[in-house]
Amino acid sequence: MREIVVVSGKGGTGKTSLTASFAVLAKRVVIADCDVDAADLHLLLAPRVQERHEFLSGHTAVVRERDCAGCGACAEVCRFGAIIGRSGADGSPAFAVDPAACEGCGACVRLCPVQAIDFPERHCGEWMVSETRCGTLVHARLGIAAENSGRLVSLVRREARRRAELSGAELLLADGPPGIGCPVIAALAGADLAVLVTEPTVSGEHDLGRLLALAAHFQIPAAVCVNKWDINVEVAERIERASRARGGHVVGRIGYDAAIVRAQLEGRTAVEAETPSAAEIAAVWARVRRLADEERAVPLLPVTLAARKAQSFRKKETTK
Ligand code: SF4
Ligand code: SF4
Repeated sequence: MREIVVVSGKGGTGKTSLTASFAVLAKRVVIADCDVDAADLHLLLAPRVQERHEFLSGHTAVVRERDCAGCGACAEVCRFGAIIGRSGADGSPAFAVDPAACEGCGACVRLCPVQAIDFPERHCGEWMVSETRCGTLVHARLGIAAENSGRLVSLVRREARRRAELSGAELLLADGPPGIGCPVIAALAGADLAVLVTEPTVSGEHDLGRLLALAAHFQIPAAVCVNKWDINVEVAERIERASRARGGHVVGRIGYDAAIVRAQLEGRTAVEAETPSAAEIAAVWARVRRLADEERAVPLLPVTLAARKAQSFRKKETTK
């Protein structure tokens, strides 16, 4: 079983649209929506939920008003300003925890002289296993203002891997989170191939550089795809040159395609709706699939070496 993770430096590059098309083109695939902060793969794959599980992570303090002696020690010790003092019904001081501000450190629980603070596990969202027209989808919904999305990504990925192994699937395809933070690391580490989707803008170029460094750090081969390449041909070419210089595999370009949005409004992917870019997407997928299977899909250079190569490449570019 091969694991391919599609990531981008920021949201809005077309990563999820592309992943959904890849899922349609792939055979015997298990799909993981690891973009748990803004999960939207389900909008295109119309999942039928088979299992629903609670996601508990960390703890939240809760003051039991009837047992509280009103000493205020908890409010003093809380470094996050999460304990609010007010007047009780009889005018005596009362204290309550703001759950959105509580970081779950537990200091107030330990300090309360009358053990009037409960410390239950925090409900942070839910994760689901669904069936779709492309295969099994493991996905999640993170609660409003809930944290620990890296842990939820790890959970979704672990569960998707387990399902893929049990069903004998040849491929695990993951829609990764944008950026280079904790959730991306949780989605990327240990994968067989990272598909880096970018767009030809200065920020897209910069974000891609950071993603290439991240993939190099984890020794993961990186396939680079410039989406909407025709909105700035010069930057698209510069991105491809820089990617090659840093050991990335350029797997193709996809042109700007307004028909994709219309297809999405109907709940269809670009390849199903046969939009103008469908053939380009299919060609990119064929190269990605080949690359994931190739034993010689060598990982990127370690970050320090890659950084040195990138530096000498930039020098050459500026002296041209
Ligand atoms: S430390 Fe305990 S008793 Fe004192 S105000 Fe807080 S909850 Fe009440
Ligand atoms: S658990 Fe920590 S962050 Fe939460 S209210 Fe208590 S002291 Fe404040």
